[in-house]
Order: sequence, then C-alpha cells, then structure tokens
Amino acid sequence: MKMKCARCQKSAVFRNPAYCREHFISYIERKVWSTIARYKLIGKNDAIFVACSGGKDSTVCLHILSQRYQVEALAIDEGIAGYRDLTLLDLRAYCAAHRIPLHVYSIKHLFGKTLDELLKKGSGLPCTLCGAFRRSLLNRCARELGATVIATGHNLDDEAQSVLMNFLRNQLAVSARLGPATGLVKDLHFVPRVKPMYFCTEKEITAYAYLMNFSPTFTECPYTWDSYRNTVRAHLNTYEENHRGTKKALIRSFLHLMPMLKARYRTTSALSRCHDCGEPCAADRCQVCSQLKKFQMKKY
Ligand code: SF4
Ligand code: ZN
Repeated sequence: MKMKCARCQKSAVFRNPAYCREHFISYIERKVWSTIARYKLIGKNDAIFVACSGGKDSTVCLHILSQRYQVEALAIDEGIAGYRDLTLLDLRAYCAAHRIPLHVYSIKHLFGKTLDELLKKGSGLPCTLCGAFRRSLLNRCARELGATVIATGHNLDDEAQSVLMNFLRNQLAVSARLGPATGLVKDLHFVPRVKPMYFCTEKEITAYAYLMNFSPTFTECPYTWDSYRNTVRAHLNTYEENHRGTKKALIRSFLHLMPMLKARYRTTSALSRCHDCGEPCAADRCQVCSQLKKFQMKKY
C-alpha cells in the first residue's frame, strides 16, 4: 500500500518523515529558516554570498536563501577537468535562469596553474591542496566583493562526518571551529561562514533537489580517492542503516559539547597575518603561500 503524507491525504514522496511534495518542500524550508533564526546566522543588513560548486547542496542552499534574501553566488574553479567544468555549467545555468549574480574565480587565472597541472608536478595530496586554495580564495574573494557572511551548503551528514573524523584523529581544536556558525574568533579580514542547512540530511537535500527539478551533474571528483572523509562517510552510513538516528545523535552530542570546545580553544586560536600575503592565518605563512612556495608559483 502506498504511504500517505502525515499532513494530508496525498501520497508521500519521502519517508521519515512521510510527506507529500508540498509538505516535504515546506518542511525543508522551515528547517532552514528555524536554523537561521535559532543560531542567528544571518542579520538584516548582511551581504550574503553563497559558496557554490554547482552540486546539489550549495544549489539548494542558494535556492532557499534567495527566497528571503538578496544573495549572490560565489564559486572557485579549481581546474579539475571533467568535473568542476561540468558542475560550473549547471551553476551558470541555474544562476542565469534565476537571475542570481554569479562570481567565478579560477585558480588558474589567479595563480597560473590549475589543480590538475599542479598535481602533475608530482607533490601534494589533491584534497589538501584543493581545500587550502578553496578556503582561502573563498574568503579573499568574498571579502573583496563586500560580503559580510558566506553561506555554505554543508548538511547534517557532512557535519557528522567532520565531528567523527576529528575525534578519530584527536583534532578537537578543529571540531571547535565547527557548528552552524563556524570559526572561533572574529577578524576583520575573515568573512564569517554559516551553514543554514545544518540540520538537513543528505537524503533530504537530494530529494529536495530532485523535486525542484534541479539537474546537477552527478559526477564525482576524480580525486576522491584521497579523501579520508569517504572512509568515514561509508562507515557512518553503514552504522546509520543498522541504527537509525546515529548521525542526528552524533550532532546532538556535539552541539552539547560545542560551547565548551569553543570556550576552550578560543583563547589559543587568535588569527595572525600571513607574512607573504597578509591573509588571516594561524601560522607565520598561510597554507596557500606555503604551497605556492613549494611549487615556485607566482604570489597571491
Ligand atoms: Fe577538491 Fe578533494 Fe573535493 Fe576533489 S574531492 S573537489 S580534490 S577536496
Ligand atoms: Zn599567505
């Protein structure tokens, strides 16, 4: 027998919770609005930029936020052939159709080499290199565009993986920077990041994207083999299958600990300026400048 929506007589398009199309869409959107309100993620006068990849999570985030806020999309093109070029096509199409301003910055344009070319040079792990460039460029480009907040498409599954990874690697200081509003200390050069979809699961976002007829290209980055996250994701998914509610429970436990972690690590996390480029960082030289030096590339 077909499952019915818990709110009306229509057929359910999603289970757990069982909702028809309309009730499911409003359930997801209400979840986002209540996360923003509860954690004060966005203020009335904020200039909001959504960090977009063209994938479903950031596109859904962009779509929902654009219903209530003036938003702009910001993307970093790392230069991963057969992957980022395709997801950026989707993003360009979405932004054009919805008249949302889009800013794309490419690593090649700024530094002279794509991620693919850098990796051919032989040193460096893809995700470490990619993450360092992307985090730093997002901050710098958003700041130069006048952003006061960057919204990201991180969901509950992403956060549960990060929390578990940090526990497994004994990196509590890294966990202290997690949460719906990321970071520990305020810095004029650092644009705060928020995660409006913090309590939406990956499955919910996939279903929302499908129901809204977004058509993100479901390609995988060719470098995912480098990702420890993939291993943790697979284990967490298996655990969730056998013990429903595991991921939510992990996030609830983390949110209990989070204020203590933030208080504990706030005092030891002051940001300084990179000696080479002046960007905020925790050491003398930021990760990007360290990589540039290693690859003897042009400066930031
Ligand atoms: Fe970058 Fe690694 Fe993600 Fe690929 S899988 S986009 S290399 S962080
Ligand atoms: Zn630097």
